[in-house]
Amino acid sequence: MKCYYHESKEGVGTCKGCGKSLCKSCIDKYESGLCESCEGKRLKKEEDEVLNQKNELKRQANYNVEVAKKQLKKTIIKSVIFGVIGIFIGADSGNIGNIILFMYLFAALPWGWSFVKNAIDTGEWAFMAVLTNSIWLFVFGVVLKFVLAFLIGIFVMPISIIKAILNFKNAKNVEKDINDL
Ligand SMILES: [Zn+2]
Ligand SMILES: [Zn+2]
Repeated sequence: MKCYYHESKEGVGTCKGCGKSLCKSCIDKYESGLCESCEGKRLKKEEDEVLNQKNELKRQANYNVEVAKKQLKKTIIKSVIFGVIGIFIGADSGNIGNIILFMYLFAALPWGWSFVKNAIDTGEWAFMAVLTNSIWLFVFGVVLKFVLAFLIGIFVMPISIIKAILNFKNAKNVEKDINDL
């Protein structure tokens, strides 16, 4: 049998893909032991797989960003509402320092709350409360969470805002990194 690609040359083997007869130089051409057209198809398939993986990574990254954005939006809205409540409470004293202090403390509460929510699994707590039929355990859990949120919020609010800004900046780079893979 002559080589499929070179009519003048004798075939020394066959393509592992399609079984075409190939000469020595054609057999040695690709490490895969495939003929020109099968090797092309194999490469195309490989490229498609990489492309699919990249798209999947991008889709996941976009989804994560969207979720983070939604959560951030909710926290910001709550923070503004609580901040306004704080202003009203502080305004009672007629002291500008108190107004700012209460505004900050209240605005920080939702940030602390979402931090505590992520850090403590209250599902277990609620389950325990139901199991032991103890409303007080449940109330204690909620109060503890609230106090923690209040204390932690003071510190967490500025950190969370800076982190969020950095994260969104990062998200833009992630897309570039995926493309460069
Ligand atoms: Zn082939
Ligand atoms: Zn050949």
